[in-house]
Amino acid sequence: MVKSSNDAAVNGTGDQPDHSAQDVLIVGGGPVGCLTAFILGRAGINVTIIEKLPTTSDSPRACGYYGASQFMLNELGLYDLIRKEGFMTHGLCWRKKPTDDGKGGKAPGEMLAIQPLTSPDDTEFKVGAGLLNLPQADLNKLFLREAIKTGHVDIEFSTELVSITENIENGVRVVVRNNQRQAEREMRATYLVGADGARSSTRKALGLPFPGHTWPERLISTNVLVKNEYNPAWQTFYVLDRVHYTISTPLQDPVIGKTTLWRYTIAADPEDDRPDEDLLTDENIMRHYENVMPGPRPLQVQIQQRASYRIHQRLAPTMRRGNCLLAGDAAHANNPYGALGLNTGMLDADALAEALIMVLKENHPTTVLDIYSDERRKVFQFFVDPTSTQNKLRVHSNDADTAAQDDWFFRMMNDPSKLTLKQVQEMAKPYNEDWRTNIRQIVADKQ
Ligand SMILES: Cc1cc2nc3c(=O)[nH]c(=O)nc-3n(C[C@H](O)[C@H](O)[C@H](O)COP(=O)(O)OP(=O)(O)OC[C@H]3O[C@@H](n4cnc5c(N)ncnc54)[C@H](O)[C@@H]3O)c2cc1C
Repeated sequence: MVKSSNDAAVNGTGDQPDHSAQDVLIVGGGPVGCLTAFILGRAGINVTIIEKLPTTSDSPRACGYYGASQFMLNELGLYDLIRKEGFMTHGLCWRKKPTDDGKGGKAPGEMLAIQPLTSPDDTEFKVGAGLLNLPQADLNKLFLREAIKTGHVDIEFSTELVSITENIENGVRVVVRNNQRQAEREMRATYLVGADGARSSTRKALGLPFPGHTWPERLISTNVLVKNEYNPAWQTFYVLDRVHYTISTPLQDPVIGKTTLWRYTIAADPEDDRPDEDLLTDENIMRHYENVMPGPRPLQVQIQQRASYRIHQRLAPTMRRGNCLLAGDAAHANNPYGALGLNTGMLDADALAEALIMVLKENHPTTVLDIYSDERRKVFQFFVDPTSTQNKLRVHSNDADTAAQDDWFFRMMNDPSKLTLKQVQEMAKPYNEDWRTNIRQIVADKQ
């Protein structure tokens, strides 16, 4: 049973943990854990990350980052590093399925609407303009590398959280297991951050539920080498379909005539109850590519990576329990349509690290951590959850033949040149103003 802050209040502080080893223990060396560690480390706070895998994860997941994250990463000095390893795109679009190109192959499907994130001829891409692209696995490594360079961060791989045995005002005790040595031991810290993904052991150890729902269909996510035959300005495209709706996005700069890596994520039929291995066979994936991939036939592609995912809309009832905090997918999960998951997680990392710096280094009261929890949960409830839900429904609840007329969003985005300034500002506000939490400003406003 976890000894909580309340126990401490009832029993006195009891035997106080010696937390000299680290100020903050981060469970999960994913992108959110490593970014939190970087921000804390550069402020001189000692951090240990435990990661249950033997290396950082290589699974095919996030790749595109919006303005709010770009501004935050720029302030941290990370934007230029990411841009050097990655590349920029102009925005996204929605299409019908590819059609016969008259030469035995398929042409890109009819364009239904465009969402420009900068003008199509922008080559400079000021910070905040366009979509910053770098596969999550590379971003994760970059965050970890920069965190370790601060001299205040270390990471133990193959080590996972087993239980939280004490969570009181003065610190946290946990049991961790090293999976290579098959050995369990105790670790102590002043604060613990659970950044251990949607199945978070931290959240479970704190006894927190994860209310919300799981969508009935699984997503088949693939990284695939494709020869670039077309040069659309809006490289990232959704293909509308009632069942096998799809999102495709480049993972490397899609130079025309060159073969580069792309992500194709295709929804499986919710009625398809075959095991994941069967969804991920070459044969099944190629069958889907035939429907959604433009280009000459027979398709000449090489599948590099594949994974299937269950997708959710869920939010923990709090992101703080005593000296334990949650961040990223451990606290909230949303479907990946609109790329809102890791962007939200990185903005959690930004707000949480700032809150911890205020408490650990600047003598602010620990109520700052409650503000972190409240503000980030509000962002999920009022922006991330409804927006990602509607992004997903938009690609499969509309008939592709009538969507462009029926759906107000498609009608509005059909011709961005007709958008009024007011409409643009209205749409941009949640992305630019609400998504990121300025903890310092909120604390100052409350004083
Ligand atoms: C197909 C797909 C596409 C996506 N595309 C986008 C996108 O374009 N943009 C976007 O913003 N988001 C996207 N997302 C969402 C994004 O991938 C997640 O939001 C992101 O992974 C969250 O990062 P995290 O660090 O919170 O969790 P994770 O990436 O899940 O990392 C958690 C880490 O904790 C470790 N761990 C777990 N349990 C323990 C334990 N007990 N002890 C120690 N370590 C543990 C795990 O091994 C893992 O390394 C996508 C998701 C999917 C599935």
